[in-house]
Amino acid sequence: MKKSLHLKKLPLFIVTVALLGISLATTTVLAGTKTLTVNASVLNIRRGPGLAYDVMGQSQSGAKLNVIAERNSWYEVRLAGNKVGWVASWLVNSDDANTNAAKVARVTSRVNVRKYASTSATLLGALNPGASVKVVYSQGDWSQIVYSDTAAWVSTKYLELTGQTTTVTSTQTAVSKANTATQIKVKTNTNTHLRQAGGINAAIVENLSKGAELTVLNQDGDWFHVRAADGKTGYIANWVVSTPSDGKSSKAATSLNEATIVLDAGHGGSDPGASSTAGEKEKTYTLETVDAIATQLRAAGANVVLTRSSDQYVDLAQRPVIAANVNADAFISIHFDSSPESNTAEGHTTYYYTKSKDYTLATYLSTSLANLSTASRGTSFGNFEVIRDNKQPSVLIELGYINDDDDFQKLSSSTYQHQAAIDIVNGLTKYFAAGNHR
Ligand SMILES: [Zn+2]
Repeated sequence: MKKSLHLKKLPLFIVTVALLGISLATTTVLAGTKTLTVNASVLNIRRGPGLAYDVMGQSQSGAKLNVIAERNSWYEVRLAGNKVGWVASWLVNSDDANTNAAKVARVTSRVNVRKYASTSATLLGALNPGASVKVVYSQGDWSQIVYSDTAAWVSTKYLELTGQTTTVTSTQTAVSKANTATQIKVKTNTNTHLRQAGGINAAIVENLSKGAELTVLNQDGDWFHVRAADGKTGYIANWVVSTPSDGKSSKAATSLNEATIVLDAGHGGSDPGASSTAGEKEKTYTLETVDAIATQLRAAGANVVLTRSSDQYVDLAQRPVIAANVNADAFISIHFDSSPESNTAEGHTTYYYTKSKDYTLATYLSTSLANLSTASRGTSFGNFEVIRDNKQPSVLIELGYINDDDDFQKLSSSTYQHQAAIDIVNGLTKYFAAGNHR
């Protein structure tokens, strides 16, 4: 472990203020969503909501992405050609204004209105020349419009934009219903107030009792902009609510199959880590081992998030941020040790940073890892950035000495990696079953 802290908090996006419709083939009601403008030179777009998913493409500066959904702290975005991909929400500056802007267009020629963006889709009706429509989203030949208070599609070539914008207030009900499945909910953990602005001196909109469920519209620093069950909107401090990592649970996991586990393959890309006596790189085996652990964890029903899934460089400072953003129940970083002189040390060690938060997890994992063919060095305090700066229960496991020839022979084998995976699953299972975390 090396590297300095240069925490990247640069916003990669500017969130613009358009509320646009969604157009998944299965969705017929309007759903509120945002448009993001890519502000970075390059942004990775992945096949799923996590770093574990392959990069399917990249977006260039200035590109606009429409957000369809949000899950597990990732945004599902629409790409050119109606493809869909995912970008990390924590790379997004989330000062989204939740306005409901739509463009006003005039119909130039009689046009069919369809359920989806296809000439073979169900015909919902037709619009006559001169009709005014609200366009919530356009992509190539098709535009999504508000039609009978729901979303429908017409051919773009029969529309002429007037240059005016409007709101889609008539579809507010549909919007909130459609969003229920993907929006983040929080619960108040005390009797508190909904306020008109973010700040403890702001005027009170209404009183909220403990356990009140709120829908998060936006986050602004320490304050959430929320909608209460009665439809009123306002602001609430993030320290008086509990936030789920996703729709899965709003509390700490009580069993492994409820848990979100972040697996961190040490090093990667331009950072090779330590080397074997023959020059084999640590980054190769951390990734192989993490792959094996992820497979076993997923088989056990856990939600697994990887900080890297290929030979790529990931800043050390970003790794704990990933754990925080998915509200991980455990963060496990995998490394291999190296002694100053080769073949002078061997065995695996489980490192923790805090006694209160990390030590119990370290103990369970270390006990379980005693099955491994390398010697156990037990648990130890370790001042490693990825666990030191981690708000989640976290450990760093050095699964053997890479520059010890005996250890290397073991740790580079799939048998050893598989055994480590089984041991870690067993350790986590017992850890969660004992109910002694958080
Ligand atoms: Zn390392």
